[in-house]
Amino acid sequence: MNNGKSVLSDKEAKQFLQEIIGEEGLEIVRALIDREATDDELAEETGLKLNMARKILYKLYDYRLASYVRTKDKDIGWYTYTWKLDLTRIFEILTVRKRRILEELTKKLEFETTHVFFSCKKDNSKVPFDIASETNFKCPQCDAIMDYADNRGTVASLEEEITRLRKEIKSY
Ligand SMILES: [Zn+2]
Repeated sequence: MNNGKSVLSDKEAKQFLQEIIGEEGLEIVRALIDREATDDELAEETGLKLNMARKILYKLYDYRLASYVRTKDKDIGWYTYTWKLDLTRIFEILTVRKRRILEELTKKLEFETTHVFFSCKKDNSKVPFDIASETNFKCPQCDAIMDYADNRGTVASLEEEITRLRKEIKSY
């Protein structure tokens, strides 16, 4: 069963898990790797309150990183929830996130490369030429005169970020 150990050794994947379920959540994940267990068992093994363990498990379920099977105890009529992980889906989630960021950055880059900008030294406002010329090159925020703003640095760092993201998406 490959459902987690390798995922936890990936820095980004681990960071994502920390974001959604916190340190306590990682304890649940570690306890559930390579096996199936009930919420009761997991709470007992990790020392977390049952409610907390359940909250974490349902959070994982929200992201389809865990699933459960519900069985009914015939004698006492209670339901038992047996959980297992599917952490490899994390890489799909990360890829979707990165594609979205990549799209935004690409739009931003296009805007930066097709416009000339003017900026205000006082408050760092930056506007495209069209807007600046409408206000006679006075800052819309503070009325100070704006200067031509060289955006080559911005363009270069956007390009760098885009290249890095593309590479990362390919590597999944
Ligand atoms: Zn200003």
